[in-house]
Amino acid sequence: EISNRLNQVIEFLPENVRKFADIGSDHAYLPCAVCLNRPDVQAIAGEVNRGPYESAQSQVNKMNLQKQIDVRLGNGLEVIKPNEVDTIVIAGMGGTLIRSILESHPEKLEGVNRLILQPNIDASSIRAFSISYGYQIIGERIINDEGYIYEILVLEKSEHSQQLTDKEIYLGPFLMKEKNPAFIEKWQHVLEKKQKIIQQIKQAKHPDEDKIKLFEQQKTWIKEELQ
Ligand code: SAM
Repeated sequence: EISNRLNQVIEFLPENVRKFADIGSDHAYLPCAVCLNRPDVQAIAGEVNRGPYESAQSQVNKMNLQKQIDVRLGNGLEVIKPNEVDTIVIAGMGGTLIRSILESHPEKLEGVNRLILQPNIDASSIRAFSISYGYQIIGERIINDEGYIYEILVLEKSEHSQQLTDKEIYLGPFLMKEKNPAFIEKWQHVLEKKQKIIQQIKQAKHPDEDKIKLFEQQKTWIKEELQ
């Protein structure tokens, strides 16, 4: 049984996916769950660390999925060849790390139709990435899985560049429209934290005025959406 979080990530795999990579696969739970259900699908489980790489390998062996899942040791997108996969999943890391993994090897993204990204924090840096690199956010989801809030972002290459406001980059264009309970819970929490941080900054000897201004702006955006 895999987590609700990983199940929701899997739901964004395209119907017609043939071969995908799961970068930072850890136990390879995600590719194993997919491939058990779909004998037609191939996967690469990438891991930079030996421990998780070995866990992935033994999970694949245990499930008898060696013919479908190739476990590879390496940093980020280095484990995939150009045009080898049509979809890439990167889940369970910070948004800035996910972004830097993607930016390190833009040539590996050619021929990839869809990126399914699940940042634990800093989803906004992925939205900013999508604009700079000519992707379009085609779907977003925010969930509460056992008390933790997770966001899932789905990106596809687009011909015309997507316009997002700073507010949409911060909150998520789809998520702020949907405003589900997880969204409200997350942003109520962030709002309280921002308020405390602003007070702390103001008490400093030389308060960082730019930071205060940014945080006040973010507070306004959050309040507008929580109304
Ligand atoms: N993707 C799984 C999930 O969502 O449950 C595992 C998430 S786990 C918290 C993050 C994994 O990413 C770790 O196993 C770590 O070794 C791996 N990782 C971190 N940086 C990486 C990189 N640059 N390339 C490949 N794997 C990486």
